[in-house]
Amino acid sequence: MALNEYKKKRRFDVSPEPSGEKTAPKHPQSSLTYVVQKHRATQLHYDFRLEFRGTLLSWAVPKGPSLDPSVKRLAMQVEDHPVEYASFEGVIPEGEYGGGTVMVWDTGTWSAESPDVAAALEKGDLKFTLHGKKLKGSWVLVRTRGFGSSTKTSWLLIKHRDDFASSVDIALEKPRSAISNRLLSQIAKDGGGDVERAATGDPAAAGPSTSRQKIKPATSKSVQKNTAAKSATGRAPKRRKTSA
Ligand code: MN
Repeated sequence: MALNEYKKKRRFDVSPEPSGEKTAPKHPQSSLTYVVQKHRATQLHYDFRLEFRGTLLSWAVPKGPSLDPSVKRLAMQVEDHPVEYASFEGVIPEGEYGGGTVMVWDTGTWSAESPDVAAALEKGDLKFTLHGKKLKGSWVLVRTRGFGSSTKTSWLLIKHRDDFASSVDIALEKPRSAISNRLLSQIAKDGGGDVERAATGDPAAAGPSTSRQKIKPATSKSVQKNTAAKSATGRAPKRRKTSA
């Protein structure tokens, strides 16, 4: 599949994303690349990509994958990406297409359960097995009738019932990069991006953040301390300038 749309949307002299000029590496059918990139752009979403015929078929999943087979996650098909995009983690400059922070959230390989992938995509019902670090086992992508823009195709990403199905919120439980163990805020910091905005894509309990510490609720201990420090009038005791 052509990368024309991918290339048209991006300026490779400004963005560190791969240009797609390199020849796609030749993989045997048994080791096709699979990747999920967590992307804090205008909206936080997870880009779900499967290598097929020399490019990465791509879907933007706003809520990310769910391990719960009763949960269907909307997946908007977007332009094919070059295969080398699978290892891209970093900062797309603000103002560029997809500007924001990108994390390789999960990576590995996939294999088709549908015997004819092209026919399954055409039909809108692709069954496959993931061999990722976080996502494993059997899944399906099913095309669904339009939500929103008619230029994008809506699919649903659903976990099949198997040993890897779970009620665990994987996005919350495993928020870090599969290749660098970094959070979005750390990737943004390292890449000179917007750290505060990237941090809004990290779970609140995931790591230290100065902005988060400010709004952290007071513990009972610190409440007691503050109370004890106050005078009977409810105001903090006055200090004489000389006491310092
Ligand atoms: Mn994206």
